[in-house]
Order: sequence, then structure tokens, then C-alpha cells
Amino acid sequence: MSVTPVLEADVLRRQDPELAEILLGELTRQSTTLQLVAAENFTSPAVLAALGSPLANKYAEGYPGARHHGGCEIVDVAERVAVERAKALFGAEHANVQAHSGSSAVLAAYAALLRPGDTVLALGLPYGGHLTHGSPANFSGRWFDFVGYGVDAETGLIDYPQVRSLARTHRPKAIVCGSIAYPRHIDYAFFREVADEVGAYLIADAAHPIGLVAGGAAPNPVPYADVVCATTHKVLRGPRGGMLLCGSELAERVDRAVFPFTQGGAQMHTIAAKAVAFGEAATPAFTAYAHQVVSNARVLAAGLAAEGLVVTTGGTDTHLITADPLPLGVDGRAARGQLAAAGLVLDCCALPHGDSRGLRLGTAAVTTQGMGEGEMAGISALIAGVLRGRTDTRLARDEVRDLVGGFPPYPG
Ligand SMILES: *Cc1c(COP(=O)(O)O)cnc(C)c1O
Repeated sequence: MSVTPVLEADVLRRQDPELAEILLGELTRQSTTLQLVAAENFTSPAVLAALGSPLANKYAEGYPGARHHGGCEIVDVAERVAVERAKALFGAEHANVQAHSGSSAVLAAYAALLRPGDTVLALGLPYGGHLTHGSPANFSGRWFDFVGYGVDAETGLIDYPQVRSLARTHRPKAIVCGSIAYPRHIDYAFFREVADEVGAYLIADAAHPIGLVAGGAAPNPVPYADVVCATTHKVLRGPRGGMLLCGSELAERVDRAVFPFTQGGAQMHTIAAKAVAFGEAATPAFTAYAHQVVSNARVLAAGLAAEGLVVTTGGTDTHLITADPLPLGVDGRAARGQLAAAGLVLDCCALPHGDSRGLRLGTAAVTTQGMGEGEMAGISALIAGVLRGRTDTRLARDEVRDLVGGFPPYPG
């Protein structure tokens, strides 16, 4: 199967040159600039093939063996394979692979365990909580009463004593652990202990590290959390989507919270692509990949720190780094723009303490491309060069083009 079935089939180019041009433009952008967005990755040709398959045509409300539509006998097998692979990969008694996204998975977890108005304890948004962890702009902040814990001002690490004291004070119905920006491992055993002490459910939103968990490079929340929410498209390198993992006793509640409570028909092409990704993630090659992602992030973080950026928590245990570029004379927002002009694509993010914004970057995509520690050292030097005004933007852009040219995400 070809890398980009649609483009190589040339069908789109003939029928709709306007859209074909856009798709090819994005492929060119992805392969000529440096993808450092922490939440992104390059899916395999096999995953893309499943996404571009006729399973996209199939309506399949309900679950395998109990659908509201006819003709589901083949897609039922695909979903069963995806579920079995997810269970085996993460050691879970139950998996739901229908959630359309990470946010949908969190919505379903809340729907399974909570009632509107319940109190929920989660990492505060300024410290790396996700929108679904109580943002006033999101359903979560509107429908639940969120209390936020923070991180230690000195170390940047989760303020575990504060988690315990807020839990005792507010008696939440659920505690959420997980973040869009926290670069360190989470102490799931601690969260379990506090949840048990106050009679709360523990929801682990492992959207970011779940791929590292699959590769044995990060602790597994499954033994500790009542429900684990995740994405399949970040380090895990699957299609854009979500999933939930839980014990048998919550299986039915979780499934009903996804369908029919918060979603309609399952996206069978995406579910097939998730199965392909789970299959890939169970290989020794993926284990090696996950560990390389972390080694690369450590080298990149150390390089940025050596160049004078303030790296949150002093480093990373994962694929993810957040850093304050202010000592180089530029804040995160301006830095993101300067770096983008040089072909280095990353995010800016809230910093735990202080008013200016920082940079958030990750090594999942560049590691998929085959880059190693040597390239990471080069990238940190490049970032600092651009931000200090040491390297001319056009020169930096050429350097980036040369670098990524040696590591094409889709060879050929
Ligand atoms: C990425 C992320 C999500 C949301 O995933 P989407 O697929 O974008 O909806 C939720 N929670 C956390 C912690 C995340 O990092």
C-alpha cells in the first residue's frame, strides 16, 4: 500500500486539483520543516492506508455483535481486534476504542462517573491542565465544579502535599491526573492513595504519555486509575482519536457513556487504523522508539538549558519539554513566531509561574523520522541561534531544510 494512497492514486489530482494541491502542500510542509509540536507524530503508511480505506463508508452505531445497522460483520471484527490489542498492550480488563478524540474520551469518562455539579480535582490550567480539566470555555468548567492543584514554585513538580490537602478539604467525586505540558512522570500510586482516602474516582488523562507507556518508557496508569483516557495520535503514533481503558466493573458504564450518551456512529476506518497502530506499538521496534523519544528529549532539554533557556523542572522524563526563553531576550509567543519563520514548528504555552509564555516542544515526530541525540544537540543550538539573533533566519531555514532532508518522514 502506498504512503499516501489518495495522492499516489492520482484520483484526487485528476478530479479535484485544488484540494490535491493543498494536500501535497501540507506533505511538503511536513517534510521540509521541523515538527517539534509535542502532540504530533508521523503515522505509518499502514495507518494511513487504513484511514483511507472503504471502512470510512460504514455506519456502525453500537458495539460489535450489537449494532443498530446492518452489514457490520466485517467492521465488528476490526473493532474486536482493536479492543483486544489495546487490552493486551496496556494490561487493561476493558478498552473502548470508539472515542473520536482525547477530549471525547474525557467527556465520556466524566459521563460514566459523575453528575453535573460534582466537584472534581485536577491540575489547574496555568500549570498544564487540559481544556477538559475545568476550563470555563469548555463543557467541563460549565458542568462541574473544578478545583485546581498546582506545581511547586521552585521545582515545577506537582505539589503532591497540596493535592492531598485539597482532596481532604473539597472531597471531590473524582481526581484527574494528566497534563498537556507536564514533562515528568506522574506518581499514580500517590493519586490512587489520595483518591481512596477521600472516596474519589481516579481518572488518568494519559493523552500524552500513553505511547511511552505502550513502549515501556513511562509508568502505566492502568493498575491505579478507575478510568484511563488517552489519545491515539500523540507519541502512540496512530490515527487522530481517543480511547478509554478501565476495569471490568466499569466497562458497561464507560461504553454507554461513549455510545449512546456522547457519540453516535463509530468511525470504523479510524478504529481499524487504531488496531494497526496498537499492532505496531506491540513490537520491539516501538519499544526502542519510545526509549529513543525520551533519550532525545533529555538531550534536547539539556541543550536548551545549556543555551540559557529555563527548562521547567530542569529537564524531562518524557517526550515533552517546556522552557522559558526570556533569558534570551524573547518571550514564548515571539519566540514561536521567530522559530516558525526559520522552519522550526512548536507551540507556546503557559508557564507555571510568571506572566510571560514559554515554549512547549516534543521529540515524538523527529524520533519517528530517525533522528537521534546528535540531531537534538543541533536543534537546541539552532533554536538558541535564532532566538539570540545569532543565526540569520534564512540561514537557519536552510539548515532546517538540510537536516530534515536527511530524515524524510515518508521516504519515496
Ligand atoms: C491532547 C490532550 C487531550 C485532547 O485530545 P484531543 O484529541 O485534541 O481532543 C486531552 N487531555 C490531554 C491531557 C491532552 O494532552
